[in-house]
Amino acid sequence: MPTVTVEIPTSLKIALDGETARVGGDESTVITAALAEHLGTPVHTLFQISTSGALVAGVYSRAVSVKTILDHGDFGLGTFADLDGEMVVLDGRVYQVQGSGRVSEAPSDAGAPFAVVTRFAPQIDLEAGPFADLAALQAQCDSLRTSGNIFYAFRLEGRFSSTRTRAVAPPEKGVRLAEAAKSQSEFHFNNIDGTLVGLWSPGFSSAFSIPGYHFHFISKDRQHGGHLLDCAAAKLQLSMEALADFHLALPETESFLKADLSKNKPEELAYAEHAH
Ligand SMILES: [Zn+2]
Repeated sequence: MPTVTVEIPTSLKIALDGETARVGGDESTVITAALAEHLGTPVHTLFQISTSGALVAGVYSRAVSVKTILDHGDFGLGTFADLDGEMVVLDGRVYQVQGSGRVSEAPSDAGAPFAVVTRFAPQIDLEAGPFADLAALQAQCDSLRTSGNIFYAFRLEGRFSSTRTRAVAPPEKGVRLAEAAKSQSEFHFNNIDGTLVGLWSPGFSSAFSIPGYHFHFISKDRQHGGHLLDCAAAKLQLSMEALADFHLALPETESFLKADLSKNKPEELAYAEHAH
């Protein structure tokens, strides 16, 4: 993160010291929060469009454009209108991994029914590994989290000895997610450079989010990717951001407004999201 040196009046410095002592934080945190509020630029905020429950119920129609997603973050994941592939948002670019395995940069007017993004500003950046599998990688991420009650963003970058991903292909209209997930393609790669874009969501968020870890992968050459099922790596650069602000934007599309979201079963989402 950049460092800024500024001169401020003594009166402001006294007030700043008072506020820093009151919140029990450090000066940088207090100044960053004050600047963010004054400039209308949210920090450490997760912005989500629609709910995981709506996806489970088959609400796949366009809710927002890629441009709107990028207005709220430069890092995250989601899916595309009609469930046309996995979305990877990295360094302010949006990539589409289609069921065929084809990866392309999504145009700004492409539509999405669901996405979760943040302006990635990691507080932790370190070298991590080795990871024999995804469970080991998640365990290392767990050791860095200081709470089970807020959201976290994880970025892991480097050479993967193996990755296993999947990507959904557009199902027939009205098909529920668990059914659509049966026709997805899987991709295996060995010795591939790339980045994992990950989010960790607390258990209580299961009503509208995907609890636990959710990783999407994109290769360095931007030719391969998808929803991560498993991976292994000797060492990766790991950065993490704690996210204590959450903004949920609900679609005003007809399919969302009229959907019956009361019959959702958590097993359906778990089935669609995990390896099977
Ligand atoms: Zn996914």
